[in-house]
Amino acid sequence: MQKNSGRIVILGTGGTIAGKAAQAGDNVGYTAGQLTVADLLTSVPALKDWPLQLEQVAQLDSKDMSHAVWQQLAQRVQAHLDDPEVAGVVITHGTDTLEETAWLLHRVLMPTKPVVLTAAMRPATSLQPDGPQNLLDAVTLAAQPGVQGVLAMLAGAVYDAAGVRKWHPYRIDAFSGGDDGPVARLVEGQLLPLRPWPTGMALGVDVLQGDVAHWPKVAVVTSHAGLDAELLQAQLAAWQALGLAGVVFEGTGNGTLHVAIENAAAALKAAGCEVLRTSRCQGGSVVGAPAGALPSAGELGPGKARVELLLRALKRRSA
Ligand code: ASP
Repeated sequence: MQKNSGRIVILGTGGTIAGKAAQAGDNVGYTAGQLTVADLLTSVPALKDWPLQLEQVAQLDSKDMSHAVWQQLAQRVQAHLDDPEVAGVVITHGTDTLEETAWLLHRVLMPTKPVVLTAAMRPATSLQPDGPQNLLDAVTLAAQPGVQGVLAMLAGAVYDAAGVRKWHPYRIDAFSGGDDGPVARLVEGQLLPLRPWPTGMALGVDVLQGDVAHWPKVAVVTSHAGLDAELLQAQLAAWQALGLAGVVFEGTGNGTLHVAIENAAAALKAAGCEVLRTSRCQGGSVVGAPAGALPSAGELGPGKARVELLLRALKRRSA
């Protein structure tokens, strides 16, 4: 297979791919983010002679992903993309918030090279670790001439940042690409493109500057049966006192919201708080915009929609 001559940078952030359990058969009771990127490569002999550059950006369970790590990660990715000797960047990540990191990078970078996130559903100590193959596939994808954009390489499928979502908490094939499916597949090292590569929506990494402690506050509220209007009002009032900049409402079905939320949203908007509605459904997008409905996040799930509102608020602030 064709391969770019430049080097591939692998940025480690932790996750299950770098996780260890006390017992080899334990696929649940492990600790994520224990092995370095260099450690991970010892399980991928096929990458021994590749021109790789390794960098440990963070070492965490991605359920605990922070704005500070995102800020640093985006800056490191951009710095490596700017290096003409670098053909592509791979990021090892946890599966839990991979889609949020992917959306953040897609929105702030506009890479003409591949930026490939990869992860694993089983720790490195598992009897069935999926990390080594995913890492090999991610580097293989990142070294392909013509590939570009923020992508996720998982279980043989290549997803774009807009579509990728974790839909299963345990299965090894835990991701989907939304209604449009994967943008490509990688089979035994052979790339099978299915759709055009994503181009990115460059806000620029500069939008992520500044002390993250002062970044705008954006929250997620889930709509559900039996919603308590009193609790909702108290929660929103407390958040507004802290300077709430945006709220994502995770709606039922096609992004429909409990009437108590509909009533509260008008006041929020009047107070300058930006809102988006998404769906609790595991698949698909919020379709259409009935008259009077809050703006929809389309195919973005609640996590990505929160990133979207955060970035919009940061952009407004920097303008
Ligand atoms: N909790 C882990 C993480 O997101 C799960 C995983 O990586 O599969 O870091």
